Amino acid sequence: MTWQDDAGRDLVRSFGERMAMFVRGEGSYLWDADGKRYLDFLAGIAVDSLGHAHPVFVDAISRQAATLAHVSNYFATPPQLELAAQLKRLAGTGDSGRVYFGNSGAEANEAAFKLARLHGGAERPRILALNDAFHGRTMGTLALTGKPYMQEPFLPMTPGVEFIDSTVEALEAAIDDRVAALFVEPVKGEAGVIDLPDGFLEAAREITERHGALLIVDEIQTGAGRTGAWFAFQHAGITPDAITVAKGIGGGFPIGALITFGAASELFYPGTHGSTFGGNALGTAVAGAVLGEIERAGLVANAAERGDQLRAAILGIDSALIGSVRGRGLLLGIALTHPVAKAVVAAAQEHGLVINAPNDETIRLVPALTIGNVELDEFVELFTASVRTVEDALLLENTTEVHA
Ligand SMILES: *Cc1c(COP(=O)(O)O)cnc(C)c1O
Repeated sequence: MTWQDDAGRDLVRSFGERMAMFVRGEGSYLWDADGKRYLDFLAGIAVDSLGHAHPVFVDAISRQAATLAHVSNYFATPPQLELAAQLKRLAGTGDSGRVYFGNSGAEANEAAFKLARLHGGAERPRILALNDAFHGRTMGTLALTGKPYMQEPFLPMTPGVEFIDSTVEALEAAIDDRVAALFVEPVKGEAGVIDLPDGFLEAAREITERHGALLIVDEIQTGAGRTGAWFAFQHAGITPDAITVAKGIGGGFPIGALITFGAASELFYPGTHGSTFGGNALGTAVAGAVLGEIERAGLVANAAERGDQLRAAILGIDSALIGSVRGRGLLLGIALTHPVAKAVVAAAQEHGLVINAPNDETIRLVPALTIGNVELDEFVELFTASVRTVEDALLLENTTEVHA
């Protein structure tokens, strides 16, 4: 029996076939059961901010597990209070902010959905979200996710959510005083790393404020420094009413949070929401240590710098397959000129590079925030070899000009 047989028999079929089985990781490298080494530019989908087996992560887990892991939300613990204060500071909520802890991105967005309903009440039954944005797989967050093919097998959805195009015009046309909230994914990661139009967040802030609706920014993929700011909304210089975070804040430990600003912080009252595991001492200690290390090591600035370098290096690869590069910081999408992204991912795996294709035309790169020159150079070498493999298979001719 191979591991593929075990996986095919025992694991839920809602994921495709597992591409490899990894047994160990260190920094930006993974090893499979045969001892083959891979450069990891997926980082568990923007989760492993510090890479694999980072000493700060290992130490935080070990120490907190040996001290106090979980006591329930009847009680406070020091790591929980420290992480709440840290998140408020990094998000810039000021004193009036509050933090709700869950265990995943979906749970953070579920909390945000309930926040929107508490704000809206009977007067404001409408919630707006963006076409093609991804907010999660639970029934509530699926209702917020503007991808009809994902919703279709699970209809009917929770009512009240309407989808609009990501333009200021569409938002102006859709909004009125019966809208409780607008949900925004600041770079649409799962859709293929699609940037919002310039000025959209600024306009969305002004328009939602004018109509008394909450602006809720889903920073689950973009947060924790990934785009070269602690949170992507900060590039726009706005103050949202709430943001949701998960993925990168735990560095591999499952944790999510809803962070509220100003008056939105007073919407939840006792009994309106909860989670048994949410905010446990173990998870909050790890996330606190991960965020602390991102801050100490200057990894937000590193994400900005390495992201620019990576973008330039990709555009410098002489290949007819490479179109443009989207995204910001270390959340990059390579738009291919042919729908062969899955073939490029498979070729990359052969060459010892882990990347991902959110759709047929896009390669997504979300490496650890710790990458340096060595990883960058190795990426360019392996990715070039991977596109060559696919080009040869497609009998595409290389262009001679360098893409700009
Ligand atoms: C991954 C993701 C989610 C869902 O997070 P889970 O932890 O998988 O539930 C929600 N929103 C965005 C933008 C994401 O990238």
